[in-house]
Amino acid sequence: MPLGDTALPCTRDDALALDRADPLAPARARFVLPQGVTYLDGNSLGALPKGVAERVAQTVAHEWGEGLIRSWNAAGWYDSPGRIGAKLAPLLGAAPHQVTVTDTISVNLFKLLVAAARLRPGRKVILAERGNFPSDNHIVESVARMLGLTARFVPAADIATAIDADTAVVELSHVNYRTSEIQDMTVVTRAAHQKGALIVWDLAHSTGAVELHLDRDRADFAVGCGYKFLNGGPGAPAHVYVAEQHLSTLDQPLTGWFAHAAPFAFDDDFRQAEGIRAMLCSTPQMLSMVAFEAALDAFDGIAMRDVQAKGRALGDLMIALSDERLAPLGVGVASTREGTRRGNHVSLTHPEGYRIMQVLIGRGIIGDFRAPDVMRFGFGPLYVRYADVFDAVAALEEILKTGGWRAVPAAPAGAVT
Ligand SMILES: *Cc1c(COP(=O)(O)O)cnc(C)c1O
Repeated sequence: MPLGDTALPCTRDDALALDRADPLAPARARFVLPQGVTYLDGNSLGALPKGVAERVAQTVAHEWGEGLIRSWNAAGWYDSPGRIGAKLAPLLGAAPHQVTVTDTISVNLFKLLVAAARLRPGRKVILAERGNFPSDNHIVESVARMLGLTARFVPAADIATAIDADTAVVELSHVNYRTSEIQDMTVVTRAAHQKGALIVWDLAHSTGAVELHLDRDRADFAVGCGYKFLNGGPGAPAHVYVAEQHLSTLDQPLTGWFAHAAPFAFDDDFRQAEGIRAMLCSTPQMLSMVAFEAALDAFDGIAMRDVQAKGRALGDLMIALSDERLAPLGVGVASTREGTRRGNHVSLTHPEGYRIMQVLIGRGIIGDFRAPDVMRFGFGPLYVRYADVFDAVAALEEILKTGGWRAVPAAPAGAVT
């Protein structure tokens, strides 16, 4: 059944038929999913892949408990950032030696922005996306302040034309966390290079969700998330990509001992490691690293083209059902409607979105809320079914019709939403 404008109306039986025809349906068996839960928040914290718990338990009991310090060599702990980076590289469209797994997005962004600015001395501006995830822009501002540069923010659609001869670095998200809109990596990267600027892509909502071709698109640098669509677990390490031509000239500012050419030589003088290892700073957090490494097995044999296609179809279905059943009840669509330009989540808006989402979660249908009014539904295409999307919309319709959200208190300050 084709999705999009022509697919209406969709019944639950239609959704079940889509699930039966879904080539990715068998991948759902690779996850541990609780009974009675419809999980539509894999864009915030991916579900638990099978095998991860056992791998972590084995690391604790054997590699740590028995191997002790020997495990840094014997169990491959020391080499894990590069090894796991190489395992992840195909999902990024990158050569294996250009990717490492370490730290968090924000910390890696700091490292990359400083390193990139140092490669463009004399230029005065870091150009970034207004409306990006705030953490990114806070880091951009701090880096600019520290280096005596100017941070300039423009809407994503205006980035390419705002780049000029004074732009040192461009930073933006490939998929926006709110609108889900995909930026054209080929076009924006080319625009940066034409003006002599470098570009840092944030892949927080891209890696594991959409097809990526970092090498082909000539991206300079990229950061991505381990705990969202890659299902690496809470606080999973992030990943960093550096283009081949920058690996030898990179000057990474967080010069911890793991960025040293020979950490165990204990030299007084810093000599930066060659290659992607220069992006490390400190001792890898091994329990998180092994969880992430095991989680990546869920992508074995899966083509990212299929993942993106299914995410798009799930989103098309949610938008179509929302237009039909929720729009008359005051729900809007904040994500882009054009499937080819949308990542794997859909944002619906309602002024009482926080309270509505609490009722929905209480019924076991889990999405999240982003202030001021966005109810966000992420589709981990390896485990989300078309019927899940149907059920979520049906539940929203009922909650809105009965006004069940009125009993829920307003959002508590500072809570994780
Ligand atoms: C999720 C997300 C982050 C998370 O940053 P951490 O430092 O890893 O906690 C950063 N940027 C964007 C765009 C995100 O979506």
